[in-house]
Amino acid sequence: AFNFSAGPATLPEPVLRQAQAEMLEWRDARASLVELSHRGAEFIEVAQQAEADLRRLLSIPADYAVLFLQGGATAQQALIPLNFAEPGQAADYVLSGHWGKTAVKQARPYVDVRIAASSEAGGFRDIPPREAWTLTPGAAYVHITANETIHGVEFRGAPEVGEVPLVADFSSSIASEPIDVSRYGVIYAGAQKNLGPVGITVVIVRRDLLERAGQPRADIFDYRSHARSESMLNTPPTWNWYVLGLTVKWMLDEGGVEEFARRNARKAAMLYEVIDGSGGFYRNEVAPHARSRMNVPFFLREEALDKLFLAESKAAGLLALKGHRALGGMRASIYNAMPEEGVRALAEFMRDFQRRHG
Ligand code: PLP
Repeated sequence: AFNFSAGPATLPEPVLRQAQAEMLEWRDARASLVELSHRGAEFIEVAQQAEADLRRLLSIPADYAVLFLQGGATAQQALIPLNFAEPGQAADYVLSGHWGKTAVKQARPYVDVRIAASSEAGGFRDIPPREAWTLTPGAAYVHITANETIHGVEFRGAPEVGEVPLVADFSSSIASEPIDVSRYGVIYAGAQKNLGPVGITVVIVRRDLLERAGQPRADIFDYRSHARSESMLNTPPTWNWYVLGLTVKWMLDEGGVEEFARRNARKAAMLYEVIDGSGGFYRNEVAPHARSRMNVPFFLREEALDKLFLAESKAAGLLALKGHRALGGMRASIYNAMPEEGVRALAEFMRDFQRRHG
């Protein structure tokens, strides 16, 4: 079967197999990795290797710290203003979908949120054009959502925002193509789409930003403390960190982000071609230049066919195609671990379904 879940999402089969084998007994430790101390030599090696591999995969410059944290992307949306904005300072948010609104909701208690631009009035079917953004002088940062997982709207490259740090939620598109990390002040991503299992979150932060005073906060909410303690301020999610490391290693072995960029472009094109060529039987309303390569939401002309589409696709081994409840319809999430063969099977199923019910 092919699993099109938006997250937690499908993992590469070799990763699952290796994790299964090593779950029972970790090399010659006579214990499972989940039973070993996070401060022991075995786990430290796993953690350091995962960081080194992630740095290589994403070409992360040395002046950026990489943190492995808990709390998901949502917790980072609250910690970002706490760490990088002074009390009462403004921060700019650009909204291109649901998750930008979540970021605003989490930030509001800590920062003077300014909506620099939003495509909500148009149903989040586009990125607000850069020339229409109103940036606030003296803002602590500009926040964007690189890929909107529900609305299927994706930035192509980093927008120009001048000196102010660009903070980007890359939860659903990290490692899907090469990016220039130096264009961003902070990149954060929950792991459960492209990086591995849920329960661990990656924060990539330019080190000079860690010098910012921010706001009064407990140690555990302080990125500086996490950086100083190499993400071991408290007990980290060791198993998740290990599986993340396996997933990153798998991506390197497959050819790295350049190779995934090629595969992902082909995969997305296959689905958009079926949708656009269906004469309206299927539709995706996102502006073509802003369409996501990771999450392809689509609607059937007749909503009455939704149930049948889901039942038949599931029977054909094409899982989790139901759209997010906020939007309805269908959604195919096609992250790095989704093989081209899975997308081809879905495209064929969609054509066949239309032939039978169109
Ligand atoms: N941001 C984006 C773009 C997401 O897709 C998600 C989850 O799907 C989140 C944030 C929330 O992440 P988490 O559940 O890890 O807090």
